[in-house]
Amino acid sequence: MKPQVSREPNGNINVFVGGAYQRLSHDKATALLQQLAEALRLPYSEGIAQFAGRVLRAHRPDGLPDMVGDVDGGTLQELALECALIEPFVCPPQGCCEACVCEADDRCYRLSSTGRALVDFSAQAAAEVGL
Ligand SMILES: [Zn+2]
Ligand SMILES: [Zn+2]
Repeated sequence: MKPQVSREPNGNINVFVGGAYQRLSHDKATALLQQLAEALRLPYSEGIAQFAGRVLRAHRPDGLPDMVGDVDGGTLQELALECALIEPFVCPPQGCCEACVCEADDRCYRLSSTGRALVDFSAQAAAEVGL
């Protein structure tokens, strides 16, 4: 049984899961959720959920309204890496970016495909509300 999800032009989502009640393993349920999220144009991965929770936990360690901490860029990068939203690559000799300050063979980080989907999603959401 392979879940199949498709999106109609009017935004309706079609789901085929074998025509009847299905008991799904964790992996198959995750695959179905990912396909549903894709059809809804809502990026999802367990890493995204982990990242959101861990950033919030780092920002509000005690969960109290007035106990708000700082989350620095190093922590964000570490969490993003652990949650597979960025991925390491080796800096090429010509540099990895515009105005590059890296040395050849440095380990650099770029958005993973999930991280890219998340950034694109937020840019699109921001454009819709005029941010
Ligand atoms: Zn670099
Ligand atoms: Zn660079």
